[in-house]
Amino acid sequence: MSVDTKKLQALLQWYMQSIGDNLLAVIIVNREGLIIDKLFGSSEKHLDEEIVGGVSALVEPVLTRITKEFSSGSFGTGTFDTEEYRLIFCEAGPEAVLVTILDAIAGVDPVFPYAYLTAEKIARIFDGRTVSPVIPKLISDKNAHNIQKKVNQLQKIKVQSGEYAFKLILGGDGSVGKTSMVHRFVDDDFAKDYKSTIGTSIMKKECKFDGLDSIIRFVLWDLAGQSQFKKVRQSYLSNAETGILAFDVTNQISFENIENWHKEILSASPNISLILVGNKIDLEDKRVVFRGDGEKTAEKLGIPYIETSAKTGESINDAFRMLALQMIKNNLVAEDI
Ligand code: GDP
Repeated sequence: MSVDTKKLQALLQWYMQSIGDNLLAVIIVNREGLIIDKLFGSSEKHLDEEIVGGVSALVEPVLTRITKEFSSGSFGTGTFDTEEYRLIFCEAGPEAVLVTILDAIAGVDPVFPYAYLTAEKIARIFDGRTVSPVIPKLISDKNAHNIQKKVNQLQKIKVQSGEYAFKLILGGDGSVGKTSMVHRFVDDDFAKDYKSTIGTSIMKKECKFDGLDSIIRFVLWDLAGQSQFKKVRQSYLSNAETGILAFDVTNQISFENIENWHKEILSASPNISLILVGNKIDLEDKRVVFRGDGEKTAEKLGIPYIETSAKTGESINDAFRMLALQMIKNNLVAEDI
């Protein structure tokens, strides 16, 4: 298959810049270990064929381990340490694997979010879908303050009157369909088993809804559900104006976890406007959470409730329209004061 190598190179360069000196090299391989693309750090010209060859040999055993540990999705990760290097393997969709080669003494924690984000973008490039090579600055303990400032700027994108831009986040357990909802809303498409979200992706979508004069720009932040992201999650969740709390109507636990997600989101963004969404209503036979249950929880949390299917597209636009209306209403009130 053909893949846009220019885009891959641009992305790898951003990735390298984001990580800094600890990143010695980054390699994209296919599942057989064949190298598709690579980029070496400027100081690492000596990083020789030995390690590159080694990576190829490691792909299969590491993938086997990843598959065992993360039974779902095509975005699992694994690390491998040698005396000199630390390798992070990150599945990038069904075709590719991103291998990050770090100095042996480098910490992997700060690198993970970037690796996931890059892997997601690689998967999109392989899918032939639109993708920006820009990797936004995420968080690191050291300069959390500066980054927070940048994050705030990103959310408060300057808008002309009658136009609004809002940071929109999605909370809820893994696999409830958050990414699919965003994908349905942004691209009006549903990709079966596209991925299971482990990184964060940020997308923009400009919307003009029937019957509304204003243009709304949502800056959609699709969150990691996995626990290793708990640390950075607070920052992703903070300063959001609007959000979707999602559960899967065929998964009781995802419904029970809604109140925890609600708490976590509110502690990071106290003024957020939320809606509760019960997704996957196309799976009628498997349904275990019913409309009345959803409505009760929504009432308890004081937020609206809507049921959707990202698969068929049912009510997805309505959910986002509901959020848009809430945002316009809130803004009108704020402007009046
Ligand atoms: P996330 O982890 O919450 O972002 O969930 P994903 O969007 O990755 O979806 C998890 C799985 O559920 C994928 O296999 C999707 O194809 C599937 N899925 C998502 N939404 C729906 C839906 O409305 N109906 C059905 N039948 N499957 C869905």
